[in-house]
Amino acid sequence: MEKCLFCEIAKGNIPATIEYEDENVIAFRDINPQAPIHILIIPRDHIPTVNDLTPDHQAIIAAMFQAVQKLTRDNKIDHTGYRTVFNCNRDGGQDVYHLHLHVLGGRKMTWPPG
Ligand code: AMP
Ligand code: ZN
Repeated sequence: MEKCLFCEIAKGNIPATIEYEDENVIAFRDINPQAPIHILIIPRDHIPTVNDLTPDHQAIIAAMFQAVQKLTRDNKIDHTGYRTVFNCNRDGGQDVYHLHLHVLGGRKMTWPPG
């Protein structure tokens, strides 16, 4: 089976700029940032997409949003604002099939996102 890129980052086998980690999640800088601050928050567990989430993942989902709050406070964008995004499957623009929450900030976002 092909190795999952984000599982390898979570295990420390592939380097990343880690911004936060706890027992449930890891947050690291996106390698191709789309805003001055672009962080990805991933679960340690391999969950491919939003479609695969179940009630058993409650603690992981909560941890992802607690990480959003901490990271946006630490980067001082909590009050100016930021965007969180889950891309899902082909039409959602998902490239990496290990659940990840994009946190983008440090510039004014536009809508619709395209
Ligand atoms: P998505 O299109 O929602 O699946 O997002 C995948 C994201 O992962 C993109 O924003 C990529 O820039 C980012 N990415 C891909 N490889 C790496 C890597 N090795 N380290 C950090 N971010 C990555
Ligand atoms: Zn994975």
